Amino acid sequence: MQFYRHGLSSADAKGIAEVLDTPFLTSGAVGKKVEAQIAEFFGQPYALLVNSWTNGALAVLLALDLKPGDEVIIPAQTFIATANMVELIGAKPVFADVDPHTLLLTPEGAARAVTPRTRACIPVHMYGLMCDMAGLRAALPAHVTLIEDCAHCFEGTRDGAPPGKHAEVAIFSFYATKNVTCGEGGAIILKDEKLFSALQQTRLHGMSAIAADRFKSGQYRHWDMARLGVKANLPDLLAALLPNQIATIRERLPARTALVERYRAELANLPIRLQQLPDNCVSAHHLFPIHVKPATRDAAIAALNAAGIPVTVNYRSVPTLTYYREKYGYTPASFPVSHEWGEGEITLPLWPGMPDEDQTKIIETLKATVVPLCG
Ligand SMILES: *Cc1c(COP(=O)(O)O)cnc(C)c1O
Repeated sequence: MQFYRHGLSSADAKGIAEVLDTPFLTSGAVGKKVEAQIAEFFGQPYALLVNSWTNGALAVLLALDLKPGDEVIIPAQTFIATANMVELIGAKPVFADVDPHTLLLTPEGAARAVTPRTRACIPVHMYGLMCDMAGLRAALPAHVTLIEDCAHCFEGTRDGAPPGKHAEVAIFSFYATKNVTCGEGGAIILKDEKLFSALQQTRLHGMSAIAADRFKSGQYRHWDMARLGVKANLPDLLAALLPNQIATIRERLPARTALVERYRAELANLPIRLQQLPDNCVSAHHLFPIHVKPATRDAAIAALNAAGIPVTVNYRSVPTLTYYREKYGYTPASFPVSHEWGEGEITLPLWPGMPDEDQTKIIETLKATVVPLCG
């Protein structure tokens, strides 16, 4: 049984073959077309491709001129990348606990974490469910930059609004298991022209022109470096895998939704907790998490694995991982909701095209071996 399988096929190889016929394999015309497609998809003035969410976030934090001592509010329940890039530039991730039902950062939770040093906040759309972005924008001071972590949510909406609507910046991941993927990659959408100009530089060493533009006229042009940047540009070889996936992503959501609805119907009324999905949200259903009593979680994983079912854990609470715990002195009691969820969470296989009989086997194994453990 597979935990996940991408939906790319030989049809997608055509785009790569076309890039192989061009002189430069790195960022160029294909990426620019995909950036225009992404900007249009989200109704945003600007989109920039990057080689990962992680490097995209680094480029954004550098473009915002975040400094040591600045604080960034981050949900305790997320993947480590969200906090790590803040830490890497020397700023301080200030964790906030999440809602016990939705597992999302709330406007109230974010507002409580604000101090005079708060510069930004990075809400995370966990498992595909969007945070209350309008509420977060209203709850935070206007000078606090909202950066959406959309690694789990490309095609989801809340109150009909897609990612990027209420935030200054939104960052996507096209990592191997994400709903839109090119193996490794990502994108940033934004509204502000000044921040866009800064990002064009911080995405590529702080240089004033990318290679394709430097060679365009046939005459060598000098470049300058006015600020510090990273190497975060996406090569056209990978960008070529994106246009068809983006054009069809909304058509593929019903397959994920149907799998999730079957899981939820079969697992209702068992001693298993599920993420609550508010009616005003369309989840991108990136992952399907369940939660069992923490004391039984590892035995439950062993029972699933013994039946040939691959699972993952998304995520153990970030502040309780060794680095953050030792540096900042957090305990499980610091962010109890995130900690409890992270100690009992199990992510089940979910991907469009997943065979029905795989899902049947997962549900039957849960009922036969995991539920008795939880009793
Ligand atoms: C995958 C993921 C990231 C990191 O994405 P990369 O493209 O691998 O850097 C960040 N945040 C969340 C919530 C993720 O799941």
